[in-house]
Order: sequence, then structure tokens, then C-alpha cells
Amino acid sequence: MTEQATKKKRIFQIAKDLNISHTDIIDFIRREGYEAASHMSPVEQDVYERILNEFAKERVIVDRHRKEKARRDIETARRQETVPKTRFDRILTLEEQRSIELDEREKAKRAREDVERRRLEEEAAREKEEELKKLALIELQKQEEELARKRVETIQAAVTGAVPGSKSKKVKSSTLPASPTEQPKSKLKRIDMRAIEAKVSQGRKKPGAAKGKGKQVDIQAKSVAQTLRQTLASMSTRDKKRRPHRKERTEVDEVAAAEGARPRIKIHEFMSVSELASAMDLNPMDVVGTCVSLGIMATINQRLDMASLAIVAEDLGFDVDEDSLLNDDSILDELADKSDDGKSEPRPPIVTVMGHVDHGKTSLLDRIRSSNVVAGESGGITQHIGAHEVTLPNGQRITFLDTPGHAAFTSMRARGAQVTDIVVLLVAADDAVMPQTVEAINHAKAAGVRIVVAINKIDVPGADPENVKRQLSEQGVLVEDWGGNYQCAEVSAKTGDGVDDLLDKILVEAEVLDLKAVKEGPAFGTVVEARLDKGLGPVATVLVQKGTLEQGNTFLCGSIIGRVRALQNERGTLVKKALPSDPVLIQGFDAVPQAGDRFIVFSDEREAKRIGAERARVRREMEYRQKSVRTLDEISKQIREGEVRQLSILLKADVDGSLEALRDSFSDMGTDEVAVQVIHHGVGMVSESDVLLAVASEAVVIAFRVTSSANAKALAKNENIEIRNYDVIYDAVSEIKLALEGMLEPEKVEAPLGIAEVRATFKVPRFGLIAGCYIKEGKAVRAAYLRVKRDNELLHEGNLTTLKRFKDDVKEVQEGFECGIGVEGFKEFHEGDVLEVYEVKEVKRTLA
Ligand code: GDP
Repeated sequence: MTEQATKKKRIFQIAKDLNISHTDIIDFIRREGYEAASHMSPVEQDVYERILNEFAKERVIVDRHRKEKARRDIETARRQETVPKTRFDRILTLEEQRSIELDEREKAKRAREDVERRRLEEEAAREKEEELKKLALIELQKQEEELARKRVETIQAAVTGAVPGSKSKKVKSSTLPASPTEQPKSKLKRIDMRAIEAKVSQGRKKPGAAKGKGKQVDIQAKSVAQTLRQTLASMSTRDKKRRPHRKERTEVDEVAAAEGARPRIKIHEFMSVSELASAMDLNPMDVVGTCVSLGIMATINQRLDMASLAIVAEDLGFDVDEDSLLNDDSILDELADKSDDGKSEPRPPIVTVMGHVDHGKTSLLDRIRSSNVVAGESGGITQHIGAHEVTLPNGQRITFLDTPGHAAFTSMRARGAQVTDIVVLLVAADDAVMPQTVEAINHAKAAGVRIVVAINKIDVPGADPENVKRQLSEQGVLVEDWGGNYQCAEVSAKTGDGVDDLLDKILVEAEVLDLKAVKEGPAFGTVVEARLDKGLGPVATVLVQKGTLEQGNTFLCGSIIGRVRALQNERGTLVKKALPSDPVLIQGFDAVPQAGDRFIVFSDEREAKRIGAERARVRREMEYRQKSVRTLDEISKQIREGEVRQLSILLKADVDGSLEALRDSFSDMGTDEVAVQVIHHGVGMVSESDVLLAVASEAVVIAFRVTSSANAKALAKNENIEIRNYDVIYDAVSEIKLALEGMLEPEKVEAPLGIAEVRATFKVPRFGLIAGCYIKEGKAVRAAYLRVKRDNELLHEGNLTTLKRFKDDVKEVQEGFECGIGVEGFKEFHEGDVLEVYEVKEVKRTLA
């Protein structure tokens, strides 16, 4: 109450304390004769006490209420502390609580047991199914192995004539879909899983697969799941969509799946989506779906390249092998193993001459060809067949490849056909080590081929062989005189000096290399040149590398099957057989093969035909694909989308060696800004269909030492297509380089033409105002650009539209003459204005 004493209470507060209406208090106060304006009015202490007295009864009641409420609150709080909440309204007894707890525990236990029981049941069912599946697969595997064994025996017998049942391990790798347990060491393209994963995750964000660290694991988990799915799908009969499939393949897949590996399939370049689907035994539409999700827009019949096929197959849970049927090396390995029984005999070295252009490669080869024909032999080397053999007076022989230069050498090598044993590195003594010399060194070194240095043109006054040797040493080629281990001969292709010495040095090198080959058995070699001969049809020069090539032999060369009808040496003499290192011109091809193609003699014609047919199919597909890729649609789309610019080339040449060399050079020329694609290449004259193809693909036609048919020329003229003719590889290459530069966005540069001064202005009907000018410097040219300056201030910039000498329109007016100049959009010429005439030139940029 002390507080109330100091602070006056207001009526509503008192009413609230006493739990009565403030109007009752106000009425009471007023009745007592005091003033009370409203419920907010304060009351004096004495009035307050009177109010309390008056309403004492109410106060007692209110107090009791308060106490009761406080008691109840305390009671509730106490209960909440001690009694657990239950779903009952009332407080539970201890017994009740205990029984509820027991009840719930029992229920949870039963639920857990239920789950466990169901899990065990499922597991048992699965195990049983797996067991059955494994048994079935083991049986299938046995059948497969038996089949494979029989096939090996048949093939081996066919190829070698061996007794079936003997030694069967060799043929397997190339011809059989081997089981995963004895997977052959394939020479196939390795599939870079990380690259594929990257592509996969790029092309499609799979749920879960792209979540940070777990990615790898997820992909594995996914592939396992897919393997399982595919295996189950192949066993299940419920899948209505499933296409009929070949039995053996599925068995292989299943064996793989059962052993935890991903199933393997064999793929080859340019399989169609439906072929791939059937190889994987999946619905083609699913494969199309996968392609699309990986960003490869494909239809069912679309053929995909090897990389795309691999990515799609990998994504669908398959491992891929490239079909080695098309791989010469696997066939050669078998043949080599069979024929290499320590019967090797020395063979002549095979030599390629390399060096910078004009250093005398051709001259040296000509000199060797003409001067080193063994005495007494009738006739010299009469025909150019791509390689020739020279016999030295001591009876030793050397084979020279006629296509000099590292481009041809490397393009052959790139095709897996390295035939060269020794490189003669030619440098002109009156010149220096040039870029192509350095390239030749690098190419020879990369191929691991021995180099013999020939310093040519020593007859030229001022020739400095020592300087060449010094420069060579800077390139890591230290000649013997200088303490190195490269032999060096100083020669003159012109006079023939030193050529014998060079040949001796080549022989010494050959002796060190101890070159040997087996003469017996079926021959194999490499095509060094091929052409369509007017009289003989398709012919090819083959350099025999092993065995003996004889007339009548059946051979496989690339995809071409043939029988050797006749063999000729470089002197045009018919020969019965050819031994290792012998170059021979072979008749008996159905079509012109390619330089670098392996030439393999088969004892079994059927096997040769089978492989040949398969290869032909792939080649056709590749050609079809190359043509179909470069359509106008495609180009316009690329241009529209601002994708890479491309220079397409259609290449025709006289012989295969040059064709390969040019094609490779062109292909290497692409830059980031302009890609180069050789859309078609072939031996022979430029035909109408070549031009048509070039038109369709916006390609330029390069004709190397070949003419064009009259129809082709007419069509090219009509269609505005250029046929560029060349005789020198170097020219063709450098001109294409220039063309490439032309295709790059040219830089625009301003070039001043002249300066004119305005001396008078006059009106010309129809033209408006013309400035009468005097050309102070250079010239004024119609349609050039022009700047009008007054007191060095730029007034206008525009085109010089009118240029007149007296009354005539002229194209240009030279320094010192007067003329009338009209400028587009400017009329306010004053006397003394200076006109700067200039043009804008487009300057080609060079390749970076
Ligand atoms: P390639 O481009 O390397 O095949 O060079 P070539 O064999 O076409 O020769 C280029 C030029 O050099 C020709 O004019 C030859 O006559 C000339 N030449 C080649 N070898 C010699 C030589 O030993 N002495 C001289 N004086 N000239 C040579």
C-alpha cells in the first residue's frame, strides 16, 4: 500500500483490482459527493480507502479467487514435473504406463523381425536364381569354347594347310570373339574411361551421378546395375520390345556379366546405330535415346564413328573391342610367327632420300638409277615404278624408294607401313640446313631410322661442306669427321662424284643393321605406289618384305583381292618371283590400292575374300560418310552458327605416293580459325563427278600432275569451281597455305591515295555542288573514300561519288591535274578546303 500512498490510483485500476465494473466505482464516488470525470481519473487516498471499504466484500472474494488460482497453478506445475504426458486425459498410474511401454516395445520388435524375414526370403530367392543362371552360363560357355576351338582349327587349316587340332592359339586373336577369361591382348584403340566419363557427364546430367566426389562410385554402381539389367533382360522373355538376336554374342555377354565384368562387344568404324543396338542386344530406340542424351544426334540408320560408338556402348554398360579383322598387323603377326624359323637371310637395305626442296634429291636418284646398273645387264631402268634396285659391281644391292621427301615417308609410316631402313639426308653444299632438312632429321629420328648424310652439289663453286656439317651438328647430327657417328659422303649429283662413296657408306650402314628376312613362305610387303595404267589396268609396286612373291599367288591388299597375273621389275622385265627388298610391279588388282597398304599373300582364297569383303564394306562406309558430311546444309549451318570455318579440298593426283603426301600435308595445315579437310582423294584425272562433289561440298579441286576431263572443266566453269593444277608438291602446299590465309578474316587498313585542294565551287545540274579541285599529291579515284578538311578540321567523311575532267566522268585523276569532285552527302565546299582521298585495303593475315 505504500506505493498506493505515493501514487494515486486511477479508477479503472481499482476496478480491475476488485474485479468490479468501473461504473460502479464512479457511481459510488459521485454518490459520496466527489468528482469523477472518467475511469481514467485518479482518486485521492481517502477516497480510495472509502472505495475499499465500500467494496470490501468484493475484495475478499477477489483475494480468495486469486489464492485459489495460484494454488491450482502450483499444483499443475508439480504434476507436470512428476507425471509423464500420456494420451489419456487423466494422469496414468505406474502400472498403466508400464504396460503401454511394454506394448510398444513388442510392436517395434515384431516390425523389425518382419523386415528381416522378408529380406532373408528375397536374398534366398536371388541366390537361387543366380545359381541357376551361373549353371546355364557355364554350360553356354562350354559350348562357346567348343565352337571357338572348332573355328580356330578350320581357319588355321584353311590358312596354313595344317592338320586340324594342332596348335590353335595363333589365329584366335584376329578372328574370334574371345571369351573374357582369355581376352587377347588387343592392339585396339584404348578407350579412355576418364574422357568418356567426362563426355558422359557433360552430355547428360544423370541424377546422382554428377554429385561431386561420389561421381566415380556412382558411375561404377550404374554400370553394374546396367550390366545386371541387360543380363536379366536377355534372359527374361517378358520384354516384348526385344529384338531377335544372335545367340553366341549374348552368351559371351552373359558369361562376362556372371563373372562381374562388363560385357564386351566388337565394334568397327561406322557401324549404324541399329547395328550397334543389335550387337548389344538392345532396342535400337533405346540406343538412339542414349545417343541423344549424350549429345550425339543420331537416327537409327545413322553411322557413327569409332569414338562415338565407344562412348554410346560404354554408357550402356558395354566394353568395346575394335574388330581386328581389319587390322593387317594381326594377320601379319600370325604369318610372321609361322615363317620365322631362323631361316632369315641377308636382304638389301631400303633407302629413302630426304632433304630440302631443290637440294638435289631427284637428281641424285636419277644419277644413281642411270649410272649403277650392273654391267652386262640389258637395258637400264626404263620405267618409274616408285622404287628401284641398284646392283653394285661387287654384286651387292640397294633398293631406293623413288618418292623422295619426308612427307611421303611419314604418310607411309602413319599408315603403319615403315619400309625404309636407311635415310639419306641430303643437304646442298652451296646452301644451308633448311627447315625441311630439320624436318627430315626429325622424321627420320622419330621413325628410328639410321641416317647417312649426303652433302650434294660439291661441284658448285663456293660450296662449303664444312659449313653444312657445322649446321648439322647444331641439329644433333654430328658427322664422323666431326667425331660423331653419322656417316657422311660429299657428292655431286650433277657430275656423279662421290656417289659410289655414298653407296658404299649405305652398305656399311646396312651391314651394321644386319638386315635379314625369310625368303621362304607366303610373301608380304607394302604398296609403295599404285596407279591405273592405260594398258595394264590397276597396277601397284610392292616392296616385298618377307617370303617369296610368285606369279599366281592370291593376295589381299587393303580391301582388294587379287591374283598375281604378272610381275615386272623396274627395267620392265617380266620376272617369275620377287624376294625380300625387291620392288615389283604387280598386275592383277581389281582396283587401284593405296600407297602404304599391306600386301599379303593368302594360301586360302576364301579367307582372303572374306576379309577383303569386310574391309571393302568399311571403306565404302567411310567414303560415303566423308562425302555425306560435307553437304551445303552442313556448311551453311556451321556458318550460321558461327562454328569453325573450313577449307574443303578435293584432291586428285597421278600416283598414290604424291596423293598420300599431299593429303597429309593439307590435313596438317588446319589452324584454330580454319580447318582443312580433304573430302575426297584419288588417283586419276579430275572427272565430272569430282567437280559435282566439290560443288556440293564447296570444295576446291587440286589436280596434281593430272588433267581434267572436258566435261569436268565445263562443269567447273559453270559452277564457279576452281580446279588448281600443280606439278610440284611444294607449290601446291604453299598455295593452299596462302588460300588458308585468304580465308582468315582480313584486316582493314587505310591507304592514302592523294590530296586535292578546292579552288572553286560550281553547280552542275543534276549533280548539285561540285568542288573544282587541283590534285596536289597522288591521285583522286572515283569511289574512293574522302575526308573534307578546313583549317585542319575534319568537316566530313564520305565517298568520292563524282569525278570529272571537264565534262567527262573519269575513273581517276593524277597529280598536277584539275578536276571536279562531288562527295556523297556534302555540299558546303569552300575555296581552300583540303580533300584527303584514301582507300581501305584488306590485308591478309598470316597463319599464326
Ligand atoms: P629436289 O627438289 O631436292 O628433288 O632437287 P632437284 O633434284 O630437282 O634439283 C634441284 C636443282 O639442283 C636442279 O636444277 C638440279 O639440276 C640442281 N642440282 C642437283 N644436284 C646438283 C649438283 O650436284 N650440282 C649442281 N651444280 N646442281 C645440282
